[in-house]
Amino acid sequence: MKHPARIAVPGPAGQIGYSILFRLASGAMLGPDQPVSLTLLERPNPTSSAALKGVMMELDDCAFPTLAEMKAVRDPAEAFDGAEYVFLIGARPRGPGMERADLLEANASIFETQGRALNEAASRNVKVLVVGNPCNTNAYIAYHHAPNLDPKCFSAMMRLDANRAVAQLAEKTQKPVCSIQGVRVWGNHSNSMYPDITAATIAGTAATELVDEAWYNDYFLPTVATRGGAIIKARGKSSAASAASAAIDHMRDWWNGSDGRVVTMAVPSDGSYGIPEGIVCGMPVICTGNGNYEIVKDIEFTAAGRARLDKTVAELVKESETVAPLIAE
Ligand code: NDP
Repeated sequence: MKHPARIAVPGPAGQIGYSILFRLASGAMLGPDQPVSLTLLERPNPTSSAALKGVMMELDDCAFPTLAEMKAVRDPAEAFDGAEYVFLIGARPRGPGMERADLLEANASIFETQGRALNEAASRNVKVLVVGNPCNTNAYIAYHHAPNLDPKCFSAMMRLDANRAVAQLAEKTQKPVCSIQGVRVWGNHSNSMYPDITAATIAGTAATELVDEAWYNDYFLPTVATRGGAIIKARGKSSAASAASAAIDHMRDWWNGSDGRVVTMAVPSDGSYGIPEGIVCGMPVICTGNGNYEIVKDIEFTAAGRARLDKTVAELVKESETVAPLIAE
């Protein structure tokens, strides 16, 4: 029998946790022949402990052949011991009257603690996907506190934004999702993101030939950027199943390779496109297998595209400046 893949999940008792754990346990990420070991980092409060206990009972009841082991722990270093795949989902939600800077600060201590524990305990080739918001800057904080790990072990989730962009194009053109390639989302997982279809194709035809500019500017861009808010308005809760699904897409492609396809990941910038080195920015990458990826280079921007990229990057730079005192040695 294969050695179980070690997956760690902080924030397992929330909405996304409730969706992702069943898919991880069933082999949706690593396939039906790969057993998995799940370590769930719970918070020491009776409500979430009880909720997590119930989730674990349900996982047991699924009798997934791929779920080899499962445990709940409270110590981050124990949770990340030998971890190969880590989904950092738990985060402090934005409370009433809380400014974005307060949210960044509140989350900084969570992601500092988790970065340090990953540094100490995780596999040296660990793949860490930050989902908890503000995810780009949380990933930035986490990798700064993990100096013995390659920053390329850390990424943040913008795959949901990319999936939303693909879904909108599919609906507009009435073409299947699988015929759409090359959509990319740049920048921050916030309303400032830049969903870019200049290189996208739909069944081999340039997307820009199939949709007009007015639709792109006036409908597509705001719809993709504010989709999270629209979901909250519609169902009274934030996106959870779609976020869990995107997290699985992200990690599966990152580890297995994207088969030459361009996918969107928020990764530490290498300075390409003038994006300041180190900030965790949504970018087009090709995953080359075994957890490696390459940022797609030599992309030409339209003037409007460049302005959108600059705007979202400026927001990320501002966030990195806000947390700078918190990551100083
Ligand atoms: P929930 O509120 O349902 O769950 C949040 C989880 O975070 C719970 O497990 C909660 O633990 C934990 N948590 C809350 N406060 C803290 C804290 N101070 N320290 C550590 N853990 C904490 O949220 P969701 O599962 O719906 O979403 C999780 C995160 O993912 C959010 O930050 C959300 O904004 C983000 N998100 C990101 C997306 C992306 O595309 N990048 C898309 C959708 C969501 P407890 O049970 O003990 O309260």
